[in-house]
Amino acid sequence: MWRHAARLVLDALAPRRCAVCERVAGDALCPPCLEEMCARRPPASRTTPHGLAAAGFEFEGAVRAALHGGKYRGDRAALRLLAAVAVPRLRARLPLPAAVTCVPLGRRRLRSRGYNQAEEIAGVVATELDCPFVAGLERLRDTPPQSSRDEGERRRNVAGAFMWRGVDLEGARLWLVDDVLTTGATTSAAASALEAAGATRVDVAVVAAVL
Ligand SMILES: [Zn+2]
Repeated sequence: MWRHAARLVLDALAPRRCAVCERVAGDALCPPCLEEMCARRPPASRTTPHGLAAAGFEFEGAVRAALHGGKYRGDRAALRLLAAVAVPRLRARLPLPAAVTCVPLGRRRLRSRGYNQAEEIAGVVATELDCPFVAGLERLRDTPPQSSRDEGERRRNVAGAFMWRGVDLEGARLWLVDDVLTTGATTSAAASALEAAGATRVDVAVVAAVL
C-alpha cells in the first residue's frame, strides 16, 4: 500500500522513462522502441475449440520487456499503450465481438499486485473497439504458476478453474483478453466457462504470444 503510494509520488516527480530502454520519453514507450515493435509482423492466429486466438505481437524483445514492466513493476501505462498498439492488429485477425472480457487473476495475486494486467489491457481494447467490457469471470481457486509445467499438466491444472458470474451471455460473441498466450490452456479453460454461460463464440485476444 505504502509502496504503491510512494511509487505514485515518485512517478509524478520523475521524468517518464521508456519501459523498455529507460530513456526519458514523453510516453510509456519511446518512439524508437515502439517503431521496433511495429516493424515486426504479428504471429499467425491459431484456431481453438471456441473460435480463434490472435496476438498483436510475438512475446520477445521490446514487447516482452514492456509486458514484464506492466506485470511486475506496476507500469500500467506501458500495458495500456501496448494494448492500444495491438488493437488494430487484433482487429485485422478476429471478428468483432459484442463485448470484451478478460482472464481474471486469483485473489491472492490480485491482492499482492493491486490490479489485473489483463483487465488493464481489456479496458483499452473495449474502448478502442467501442464495445462494452463485461466483468464476471472468476477463478474458483488459485492455480499454481503455469510456467514450469508441460502442456498436459497445464490443462489439468486449470480445467474447471473458472466460472462466469456476470451478466447473461446467451448468444454473445466475445473477445477474451489476456496479456500473454502460451499453450492456451488457461484461456481455453476460461473460454469453456464463458460458453457454459451461454456465449456462442469466444475469440482470444492477447498482446503477445509465445511461439
Ligand atoms: Zn525505449
